[in-house]
Amino acid sequence: MRYSVTVPDQEYFDRNIPCRTACPIHTECGRYVQAIGISQDEEAYLLARAPNPFAYVLGRICAHPCEDACRRGKIDEPIAICALKRYATERHNLGAGHDPARKRLTPAPKRGKKVAIVGAGVCGLTCAHDLALLGYSVEVFESAPVPGGMLYLGIPHFRLPREIIKMEVDNILAMGVTLHTRMTVGRDISFSDLRSQFDAVLLATGLNKGRELNIPGAHLAGVYNGIDFLINVNLGYEIELGKRVVVVGGGNVAIDVARAAVRLVQETWQSGAAESGAESLQPALDAARMALRSGAEQVYLVSLESRQQMPAWQSEVHEAEHEGISVDNGWGPKEVVGTDGVVTGLKVRACVSVFDENGRFNPAFSDEEKVIPCDTVVLAIGQQADLSFLGGDSEVQVTPRGILKIDENLMTTAPGVFAGGDVAFGPRVLVEAVANGHRAARSIHVHFHGKSTKTVLSRFRIFNNWEMPRGFLGIPRQTMPVLPANRRIGIAEVELGFDEAQGRAEGLRCLKCQVNTIFDGSKCILCAGCVDICPENCLRLVDLTQVQGDERYDALIRSRYGVSAAELPAGQAGAIIKNEEKCIRCALCAQRCPTHAITMEALEQQEREVFE
Ligand SMILES: Cc1cc2nc3c(=O)[nH]c(=O)nc-3n(C[C@H](O)[C@H](O)[C@H](O)COP(=O)(O)OP(=O)(O)OC[C@H]3O[C@@H](n4cnc5c(N)ncnc54)[C@H](O)[C@@H]3O)c2cc1C
Repeated sequence: MRYSVTVPDQEYFDRNIPCRTACPIHTECGRYVQAIGISQDEEAYLLARAPNPFAYVLGRICAHPCEDACRRGKIDEPIAICALKRYATERHNLGAGHDPARKRLTPAPKRGKKVAIVGAGVCGLTCAHDLALLGYSVEVFESAPVPGGMLYLGIPHFRLPREIIKMEVDNILAMGVTLHTRMTVGRDISFSDLRSQFDAVLLATGLNKGRELNIPGAHLAGVYNGIDFLINVNLGYEIELGKRVVVVGGGNVAIDVARAAVRLVQETWQSGAAESGAESLQPALDAARMALRSGAEQVYLVSLESRQQMPAWQSEVHEAEHEGISVDNGWGPKEVVGTDGVVTGLKVRACVSVFDENGRFNPAFSDEEKVIPCDTVVLAIGQQADLSFLGGDSEVQVTPRGILKIDENLMTTAPGVFAGGDVAFGPRVLVEAVANGHRAARSIHVHFHGKSTKTVLSRFRIFNNWEMPRGFLGIPRQTMPVLPANRRIGIAEVELGFDEAQGRAEGLRCLKCQVNTIFDGSKCILCAGCVDICPENCLRLVDLTQVQGDERYDALIRSRYGVSAAELPAGQAGAIIKNEEKCIRCALCAQRCPTHAITMEALEQQEREVFE
């Protein structure tokens, strides 16, 4: 193997591998996608799992910022990176104890320090995972009867099966982490006791209260709060829904509420049949679905935002509609109307704009109004933190947004008390909570005078023969197989995962951004052969004077010609300009170059962090 003597700088690496850069935990997305393409499934799993103790979960429900950054999206559609993570994790039977990733994780000898973590959500448990590996004694306090935080309490079964949460959490507990469920800090143990009994505390309590909406009628019987509704349904408590349900909100929580409500309405219709055994369920289900489709039983989702502005993921909105939910965009709630203290409808007014000229949330309405008849209203308009557990501890300061004030190391204003996840940053996504869990563990370790030394090895590997897989550009993004709408009842998972053919095909679509064309200007004779042969027209031969004004090139030109590009006489020198976004790494330019001025080289980077 040949390596270049040039060492790529971090900025070059970050710019050239956008999927990895966009991921808050810097998952080597491209590398696991490519490994799947060539049937190296175990390698793919190890890469996906390395920075992520919740790889299985995130393979299903990650917000996948990597896909937004994926360069293939500039050509047709991004690689289905999230679905491929699910594919990689599912090909390992972790449940049977054969997880190859865990074999690589050996906890360090005990260090004699105790850390309390409040909240067994993704942030708290990721931190527990890392601290246990570092040799700390970790106890997690969780008020719910089950661990997982919003994975369990908020996200419905049909998007995330519970056995997957259990498997991931069990793996973390197996590292020696102690979990106390049904233990609410502030009620079952005071925050000050926790501080005095442990050497450090992490607050990862999330945002488990729904925001209130101060409109007339909000107190009527039949009005629920979205977060309360989901927590109750997910913990198995009975919620009586009417026949016409209106869910207010445009985010993913509102969509989850609406989709859970549809299933509850169906279950109400089924209940008589359910008692007479599973086989007789189908006719009752069909009847319920028919009722839904004919409009007798209906779930509406009312959102201020237009369809394009809705913060919910479009794929989730699409699935919700597919299940029979009517999405009514551009309306805001004005009043819950009712008779004898019970809801009979929701009065809404037309929203003409959601954001003001400064981009701030500031909805404006017209005079147009309507009443949507219903017997249940679910308000899913946002979340907030319940910080009553602090019990008036004035050392831990709260920001005007109602979240915990932290410094760059996630330490709150109280020494030794750290905070991460949604309670420290406001509503975000799971992969950010994982990133915070890692960061909190590192900060707690450093707080105890531990050391962390990071070494990064960066280099270019030179290929003699580089080829992209045949026909890779013609492969379309694979579509996630889903359960037919008429089978979507109760907890049945909607997305079914890629089969092997789909996994391989999707893996082969990757543009392999880590490999790039490296130009040696001293060998180039400006023959423009590379420009002519490029199938994507991403190369241009220009007069050097045309690159003036770009400071990246200015320094280079000055070092070579002694003057700036603007001072060079026209026609004296030329340059090849490359549009990096369009390059498909086909290597035709390198093959065509008569002076071997172009080589195909892979950026390689290995990070190693040693904790002492
Ligand atoms: C309905 C819904 C759907 C979502 N869907 C997605 C999605 O598909 N993809 C995505 O990336 N993100 C999604 N999110 C966001 C994601 O769930 C959160 O960003 C993430 O869960 C935050 O993790 P956390 O660890 O900070 O807090 P949480 O997951 O909220 O965990 C906090 C834990 O602390 C416990 N707790 C609180 N107070 C106390 C106390 N006093 N004592 C003891 N324990 C306490 C709570 O019971 C809870 O278990 C969704 C959120 C919701 C509400």
